[in-house]
Formats: sequence, structure tokens, C-alpha cells
Amino acid sequence: MTINREIAVVGAGIGGLAVALACAQRGATVQVYEQARALNEVGAGIQISPNGMNVLAALGLADDIRATTMRTSAINLRDYRQGRLVSHLDLLKHGQPAGHYAIHRADFVEKLYQACLATGVSFQFGNDVEMLPSDKRVVIAADGVNSKHRSKFINDEKSTFSGQVAWRATVKNTHELPAISTVHLAPSRHLVTYPLRQGNLINIVAVQERSIWADSGWSMTDDPENLRDAFDDFSPEICEILGRIDDCFVWGLHNFPAEKQWYTGNMALLGDAVHPMLPFMAQGANMALEDAWILATCLARFEGNSDAFAAYQKARSLRVDHVVAASSRNAAAFHLSGVKRSIAHTVLRTADKIAPSVGIKRLDWLYGYDAAKF
Ligand SMILES: Cc1cc2nc3c(=O)[nH]c(=O)nc-3n(C[C@H](O)[C@H](O)[C@H](O)COP(=O)(O)OP(=O)(O)OC[C@H]3O[C@@H](n4cnc5c(N)ncnc54)[C@H](O)[C@@H]3O)c2cc1C
Repeated sequence: MTINREIAVVGAGIGGLAVALACAQRGATVQVYEQARALNEVGAGIQISPNGMNVLAALGLADDIRATTMRTSAINLRDYRQGRLVSHLDLLKHGQPAGHYAIHRADFVEKLYQACLATGVSFQFGNDVEMLPSDKRVVIAADGVNSKHRSKFINDEKSTFSGQVAWRATVKNTHELPAISTVHLAPSRHLVTYPLRQGNLINIVAVQERSIWADSGWSMTDDPENLRDAFDDFSPEICEILGRIDDCFVWGLHNFPAEKQWYTGNMALLGDAVHPMLPFMAQGANMALEDAWILATCLARFEGNSDAFAAYQKARSLRVDHVVAASSRNAAAFHLSGVKRSIAHTVLRTADKIAPSVGIKRLDWLYGYDAAKF
């Protein structure tokens, strides 16, 4: 199936690069417009789950990622004080075969970018696109959480601050951390750590419920002391890791109204531009990868843009709604306090002992999905 169209992609993030590559591999002429002067991903990690790896396999990138990236062996939930284990999800024994990988964002975006160049995609950097001149091209707006295209053409309803902020940082790994993603659970807060770049770095995402508003986006840096203060009752190991942070970013997490319309005229939205979500399932980029593959498939399958876009939205919206809802539920589950917290942790510990595969199998609907079979 080929795409006999010219395609303009707005945004060279993970979603924009993936859709540019998927369309170019099907024969489309693709031009990407990026506001930044160069690729500028923040120095942080991203977790690619098996459903995202399935798309990367279809794009021809999975072997390279497997060869150069650490496979995550487990997800551990731990109590914040002394690090006592609450739940252990064994991703090697019970997870999906495609595997979970934690990769540095800059490395990931570079791999997508190089694959785009090798497939003939052209790029214009330093081009802040408000609106592309109306021509016959298909426009794919992958311009992220603060999408100008969403607010201008689809819906300019404002987001609301969720009352949660996420700090992000990396530090050198001096801890011999295994390839495990660990979620340290505390009332009103949680903190995720996982190793990156063959274990040389530790990636940290720390989430706190608070009333002081913060903007959404990685442009806001913060004083690491604020992060340390917010987590100073965590285990000595975590406090030691936080003590070594020199620079960090803070992102105000926002709730966005669910988008009912994913396209208009010759333009479709993709990734965070159409379905920003709280990051508590680590699925925003994985969903953008799935969107990319399915939108390219629909453009190849249907001659008319509106038919292709309608099929794309139909294939994506329900699944994305489930993931958005599951991400919001996780915020509450991670931040429990008092009796509810004790009961929930006891249930998780007992379930792990009786049926260790059940926790991860409950997520087969998410991780077992293969967009390439659409
Ligand atoms: C704390 C945190 C942790 C996360 N962890 C994970 C994780 O582990 N796994 C996961 O799957 N997801 C995770 N996510 C979510 C993930 O980061 C996003 O969902 C994903 O990056 C969205 O990709 P995107 O391409 O849609 O948007 P973006 O990555 O935001 O890319 C948008 C691009 O468009 C460009 N742009 C914007 N406006 C314009 C314009 N007008 N003209 C031209 N270019 C423009 C931007 O410069 C940018 O390059 C996390 C999010 C947060 C906040």
C-alpha cells in the first residue's frame, strides 16, 4: 500500500518523526516543520512498552533499540520510607515478548530522525508554524501538548491544572541499579527511578500534589532544592540520589478535555496534540507511536483524506480514552494515604504471593496491542 500524497508534519517530537517515517516508508513525500532550531529533546528517559516496540519493529527500528538499550526486567512498587517492596511485576517471565525498554529521549529522537533522513524526509528547523498555506498537502499536526493547531482549528478550550507537578532529572549512576523501573509510593507523592544508557545514568521523575500552579512543558527549570525538600522523608538511598542533582525541570501536569474531533479538512492531529495525558502509565509517547502507524496505514488505505482521517480516529479514540482514564486512576492509586493505603498495599503484597503473574497480565490489553496488525 502506498501513499500518493504530499504530507506536511508540524513538530519533530516522537509522534511527528514516527508519522513522517511511516508515511515516507509508504512512498509519500514528507516535509517536517519544527519550531526549534535543532532537535532539542530534554536530557531525560522515556519508557517504551511492548505496544510501542511493536510499532518500532514495523518501522524497522526495534533491532537497533534492542541492541543499544537496556531491557527493563521488572516494575517494582516500593514504600517510600525504607523501600519495602509492595509489588513486583516480572516483565521477563510474565510480560509481553516485545519487551519494555528505557531509552534516553535524545538517543531515541536521533534514531527516528536518522531513519527519516535515510527515507527521504526533509526538515525545516526554526519554523514556528501557525498555519500552513492552504494547498493540497495533508497536514499532520504533532505539535505537542500546547498544540496551536488544536486550539486554532479544533477546540480552544483551556486545560486545567491537575494540582500535580512532575520534576525530571538525571544523575550519574553510582548505585549499580538493576534494569528495573521502581515506583516509590508516598501519600500525595511518588517518585520513579530507572537506569539509562547501559546503566550509566539514573532517570528520576518525581510527582507531588500541590496547589501552586506550574506551566506544562519542559521549558521551566527549577531549583533542585525544591525537589529535595518535597521528598526529604524518602529513604536514605533516594535522598542520596536527589542530593546529587544539579539541574532539573518541572512540568505542571494539566487535565485536558477529551477531544471529540481529531481532524478537520486536510489536517489531522496526532500524539499529545490530540490526547495529552497524565504520565502515570508512561504511555504518551507509546500512544503517539501507535497513532503514527495507524494514521499512515489509513492514508495508504483510503484515497480521500476525510475517509482516512475518520478511519484513523475510529481506530484510535476508544483505546486512547482507556489509557487516559487508566493514567488518571494511577495518580490516585500511587498517592493513597492512611487506612486505604495500608489495605491497598496489603492486597498487592498478598496477590503477588498467590499469583505473581496476575498484576502484569491485567495490562495485556495495553501492552499486548500490536498497531502493525491494524
Ligand atoms: C514526567 C513525564 C514522564 C513521561 N514519561 C513517559 C514514558 O516513560 N513513556 C511514554 O510513552 N510517555 C511518557 N511521557 C509522555 C511523552 O513525553 C509525550 O506523550 C510525548 O513526548 C508526546 O510526543 P509528541 O510528539 O506528541 O509531542 P512532543 O514530544 O511535545 O513534540 C512536539 C514537537 O512539536 C514542536 N512544535 C510545537 N509547536 C510547534 C509549531 N507551532 N511549529 C513547529 N513545531 C512545533 C515542538 O518543538 C516539539 O518538537 C511522559 C511525560 C511526562 C510529563
